[in-house]
Amino acid sequence: MSPATETDGLLRASGIRKSFGDREVLAGVDLSLAAHEVVALIGASGSGKSTLLRCLGLLEPIDDGQIFLGDEDISDPRVDGNRVRARLGAVFQSFNLFPHLSVLDNVTLASRVVHRMPRSQAEARAVELLARVGLADKAKEHPDRLSGGQQQRVAIARAIATDPEVLLLDEITSALDPELVGEVLELVRDLAAEGATILMATHEMAFARDVADRVVFLDAGTIVEQGPPSAVLRHPREERTRAFLARFT
Ligand code: ADP
Ligand code: MG
Repeated sequence: MSPATETDGLLRASGIRKSFGDREVLAGVDLSLAAHEVVALIGASGSGKSTLLRCLGLLEPIDDGQIFLGDEDISDPRVDGNRVRARLGAVFQSFNLFPHLSVLDNVTLASRVVHRMPRSQAEARAVELLARVGLADKAKEHPDRLSGGQQQRVAIARAIATDPEVLLLDEITSALDPELVGEVLELVRDLAAEGATILMATHEMAFARDVADRVVFLDAGTIVEQGPPSAVLRHPREERTRAFLARFT
């Protein structure tokens, strides 16, 4: 799939700026995702990946720029952030499951509360989703009884329970023991194959190479280089990209 342009994306961000105090973390980022596109966001720790994902997900206010989801300007200060966030699915490095709720209740909460889905319907859907992430037998458990990989699969089931238009995944395997990374990446690979639109910050270069349609390299809050994985990861044009990738070989 060719990179999205400014006008044809499902999610389109332009000129995104964000500072914390006098530190500029995003220095004018333009990034679009086409429907069904899988984009891997790579870059050193501190380059602004999480901040960008948080800004796109309306979890952090931007200082300047515009974000469109479909034909709605979601960066308009007048938009109802909760309504927009309900159209997106976000998963983070730390699983952020509600510890006092069962796995089933974690997965149904947004459907019931935000989308006002009847409990029976939300639970039927959650049971299906848990089966699909391989955790049908864990519905009644509390998160602390699960491995990190299982918890992250629950977090993904929770994120997709409301049929989000875009999935924002922030280093979702970084906190996992190495032997648990594969099961979570496998699930992301399935979602991608089924046509999900995904923006994922990741340090899993092999996964980015195999699954992403496009790789975007962020450095110091600026997109330095982007393109198909085969180009960016194997034949980077920019010195900064080469220096970053050299750490993974
Ligand atoms: P990455 O995800 O690529 O590691 P981040 O977006 O987390 O990068 O961070 C980019 C920079 O922004 C870092 O210097 C970080 O310390 C800073 N930063 C991120 N969030 C905050 C915050 N809430 N307050 C102050 N500084 C922040
Ligand atoms: Mg981060």
